[in-house]
Amino acid sequence: MKVGIIGGGQLGRMLALAGYPLGLEFRVLEPKPAASAGDVAEHVRGDYDDPEALDAFANGLDVVTYEFENVPRTSADRLAGRVPVYPPPDALDVAQDRLVEKRFFRERGIPTAPFEPVGSRDELDAALEQLGTPAVLKTRRFGYDGKGQVILRSAADADGAWEELGGRPLILEGFVAFQRELSILSVRGRHGAVRTYPLVHNVHHEGILVRSRAPAPGVDADLQALAEDYARRVLEKLDYVGVLAIELFEHEGRLLANEMAPRVHNSGHWSIEGAETSQFENHVRAVAGLPLGTTRPVGVSVMHNLIGTVPSLEAMLAVEGAHVHLYAKSARPGRKLGHVTVRAADGTTALDRAEELADLLA
Ligand code: AMP
Repeated sequence: MKVGIIGGGQLGRMLALAGYPLGLEFRVLEPKPAASAGDVAEHVRGDYDDPEALDAFANGLDVVTYEFENVPRTSADRLAGRVPVYPPPDALDVAQDRLVEKRFFRERGIPTAPFEPVGSRDELDAALEQLGTPAVLKTRRFGYDGKGQVILRSAADADGAWEELGGRPLILEGFVAFQRELSILSVRGRHGAVRTYPLVHNVHHEGILVRSRAPAPGVDADLQALAEDYARRVLEKLDYVGVLAIELFEHEGRLLANEMAPRVHNSGHWSIEGAETSQFENHVRAVAGLPLGTTRPVGVSVMHNLIGTVPSLEAMLAVEGAHVHLYAKSARPGRKLGHVTVRAADGTTALDRAEELADLLA
């Protein structure tokens, strides 16, 4: 069986690495000559919206999936005319637009931060009146890793925020003074089976994920069940196949959905060593129509992203329980170049080891 992946970054690389032991083959579509996944998969060079490249890519594939949510809908539809595409292209429509996404959550009964659409300077004033401050103004589309968003501390910040982001479709969100950020990763198979990973605790710096701990500490069965219920509502509405990540704010005992990613997710990288079946293997299993694997955690894991620079390999590997994953990408400030997961039988040991690792990264 040959699996096509739209996008040739580290997620594609780790999907292929997880699929090889199952005897699957991989091909990626990636315009850049240097593709992280190109080391481990056949690399078709072409733009994501080039019909000829899409057709050449699809030739001989059994199934197509993707590793980023900004795949053009028309491209997904073109491919779907020839080969099954999972997750379903409808998931792209939801994940590509923050306004559609928040409405979609609300329609499923999943709470979110309060929000208002903003299409003009007047609408920004009206939305600020409605939501008050602090608030977060975001572009509806193409925002990632904290890009395309501005925090408004008071109404006086409106001019500056408009100057920075105005002219594009926007959304204003009430600022959530959350206790912490969590994510729930779940996977649904082609025949509707669903499995969910334990809630993960995520720490961001300047909008970029720096560290995840799984399972998140202090999560009782009710909170886990609530997150699983929210995930299931999304999966079922979209007749979803593959891994889905939902980022959540924990706020006064509630879970507010911030955004979803219809793909494997950085907050699930810990699962390579920290769960019986990784998110990558489960995504591959799902899209290939294979039985899903158990998502049970194995001990406690802490994952650190390697952002911008990579410390010495020797030093990282000298940390007991450390597992290093380098993505073969050239260094650039703010770029995710790899990750390291430390795993231990108990939380205290995992945290001690994570601190040792954090010292190397500081
Ligand atoms: P996003 O691009 O929506 O994932 O936002 C990036 C990060 O900004 C999140 O992980 C949060 O730390 C923060 N953030 C986004 N939206 C809000 C909000 N409405 N209230 C508070 N913090 C937010």
